Amino acid sequence: MTQALSPLPEPLFATVALIGVGLIGSSIAHACARTGAAGRVVIHDRDAAALARAEALGLGQAYAGSVAEAVREADLVILCAPVGANAEITQAMAPALKAGAIVSDVGSVKTAVVAEVGPRLPQGVHFVPAHPVAGTENSGPDAGFATLFRNRWCILTPPPGGEPQAVEKVRAFWAAFGANVEIMTPEHHDLVLAITSHVPHLVAYNLVGTAADLEDSLRSEVIKFSAGGFRDSTRLAASDPTMWRDVFLNNREAVMEMLGRFTEELTALQRMIRRGDGEGLFDLFTRTRAIRRAIVEQGQETAAPDFGRRAQEDAV
Ligand code: NAP
Repeated sequence: MTQALSPLPEPLFATVALIGVGLIGSSIAHACARTGAAGRVVIHDRDAAALARAEALGLGQAYAGSVAEAVREADLVILCAPVGANAEITQAMAPALKAGAIVSDVGSVKTAVVAEVGPRLPQGVHFVPAHPVAGTENSGPDAGFATLFRNRWCILTPPPGGEPQAVEKVRAFWAAFGANVEIMTPEHHDLVLAITSHVPHLVAYNLVGTAADLEDSLRSEVIKFSAGGFRDSTRLAASDPTMWRDVFLNNREAVMEMLGRFTEELTALQRMIRRGDGEGLFDLFTRTRAIRRAIVEQGQETAAPDFGRRAQEDAV
């Protein structure tokens, strides 16, 4: 059974500013409200409708019309917009940041974010990049929920020579939401995530795109008789187009490396099928099944027949 989030005895940060209030920003806001990790949450989004919706949902204590206004009193600023927006946001907020503030993010790629954000921050501000490895295919302020990060990993990629206390505070913040926190280099993060997240999304986009390109009559059959495998791919392929465009543009090298390996393996599979190599196919499918079992055993998924999604939603 999944555990409830427990309230903290006192806030970890007096004021937290969230820049971008989509799935991740709104989930952080819910988790702050549930745990008391922030004394006050200030929200900014460039989309006026999203900001108004965040206010209607009561996601924060203040709603700012500009990035500078949002960060002015913040002890922790979290960039929760697509990674392609980070340079512009950092430029706009840098002059307004408090001395000693911590700036973090939630971007799905880290090397590019470190290169874009780090050099634009003023002296005396601590930078602790983060990636909560948790999400759904939904976007916007209505999509968030407090337990999104529970029992998920949150990877921190602090620059060398950074302030250890700042890293510790960001670690405690994510731990309060039930996340398991790990520290690694941005390059290692990008390589691991390329194969566990980015290439699977690319494959899903390609598979569903191939079906979309079929002529109309066949496409209606594809939708009508969609089997579990296709349906699961459409879930990934329904993910936010802006976010995923930015992921591929900003993790080019690692994705190209993993895509190269993937293509070689696909060619080997093609050969097995052409040659009727049932033993080879069976061996591979046995090895891949063991990976699925290991993921379930480590609590990152349930063995429920619908990939555990229903059970997870029920727990919200
Ligand atoms: P989302 O639901 O699409 O929301 C992003 C919000 O940020 C939108 O309201 C967007 O407004 C706003 N925004 C864009 N540019 C901005 C700017 N310059 N200033 C202020 N707000 C801006 O996105 P999300 O899924 O929460 O993803 C946000 C970040 O989390 C991304 O960096 C992503 O890589 C990372 N992440 C996502 C997932 C996931 O599964 N979704 C998981 C882990 C990490 P517009 O609509 O006007 O663009």
